[in-house]
Amino acid sequence: MRFLVVMVIIASFSQFALAKGLVVSTHPLYLIAQEVTKGVEQPALLLTPQQSGHDIQLTPKGRQMVQDADLVIWLGKQHEAPLQSLLSQKSNAIALLNSSILKTLPQRDVKGRAIANSIDTHVWLEPNNAIRIGFFIAALRSQQQPQYKAQYWQNAQNFAKEMLAVSRVVNKNSRPKNYWAYHDAYQYVERALNLQFAGALTTDPEIPPTIAQIQYLMVNKPQKNMCILAEYHADGHLIQRLAPVTTVTVDEAMANENNFVIGWKKLIKSIQQCLH
Ligand SMILES: [Zn+2]
Repeated sequence: MRFLVVMVIIASFSQFALAKGLVVSTHPLYLIAQEVTKGVEQPALLLTPQQSGHDIQLTPKGRQMVQDADLVIWLGKQHEAPLQSLLSQKSNAIALLNSSILKTLPQRDVKGRAIANSIDTHVWLEPNNAIRIGFFIAALRSQQQPQYKAQYWQNAQNFAKEMLAVSRVVNKNSRPKNYWAYHDAYQYVERALNLQFAGALTTDPEIPPTIAQIQYLMVNKPQKNMCILAEYHADGHLIQRLAPVTTVTVDEAMANENNFVIGWKKLIKSIQQCLH
């Protein structure tokens, strides 16, 4: 069924297949696209690497990029909400979260409870999802530029192989390890690392944590010294109220990386360090 949906998307897509340029919305998608298009073309990144999707300001240049693109890949309105008005009218903009190719998990509240009918949009952090995104881009771009089909597919396969290799060597903990997140972004690596989410400080990285939530976490600490995965701009003073804690700076968007597989590996490594 899922396969069928994908085929329908690709088939209907080929009707406007006149190729020029590939534009992707966020940095992690850009890193995947870069692998798939190696030796053929250079994808363009719509948002700056630091704009993870939570905060978005589109420049006039960005709007022009979208106008000129032959294919725009974005996650979807659930992740990059401000792009919706622009991209929903564009026939060659594909929202990955609407494509049925990804394995998705429901969003969780700050206490770790699943929220019905929601999607945790940090899908690229799951290795199989990253691989699927790679093959999907290869399929869509091959429709537009059939002369490069073999290269796109070869690239997607190489990417899949590398991604699988690094995700296999991840050392699983024998017992699940508890952790907190500044905002809940790392659900998709929990299985690979055998992690147990014990709560987040805030629902959104742009919203400061509430005192009530800090208190909730202090009262519901599953172990004495907790690990917090926090992004660069997280409020260090607030985090210290939860001491003793080990904080590790992680970046869901891999903004400082230029290779997806290496970036993913580094992210996993820093999470593992936090847990020791
Ligand atoms: Zn996030």
